[in-house]
Amino acid sequence: MDTELTILRPDESISPQSLSRKTRIPYPIIEDILSSLVFESSLGVSFIIFCTNDDPDLVHAFEFPDKKLLRDFIVNNKFTCPDCDSQLNTKNIRVAFIKKDIPVSV
Ligand SMILES: [Zn+2]
Repeated sequence: MDTELTILRPDESISPQSLSRKTRIPYPIIEDILSSLVFESSLGVSFIIFCTNDDPDLVHAFEFPDKKLLRDFIVNNKFTCPDCDSQLNTKNIRVAFIKKDIPVSV
């Protein structure tokens, strides 16, 4: 767990799913740990939604720091990707955890 988080650079994100796979810690426990880290402010959260473009190379991702902004985005764009007019994939919203850049005093 420590190692995994330490190799993350500031502003890099990781999904609880991949962390769970790498550490073999059950997903619910990973979520608990990450949530408490968010609470302690050493991690930030972001919500990522993808569009359903048929071409995997053209799938767009949109990232939001909170659920409200994500919902506003979906509603304002009428569930449609503003870049390619495909549907937004509201069934597959990812939550990413981002290691915050904690200033180190020199
Ligand atoms: Zn798109």
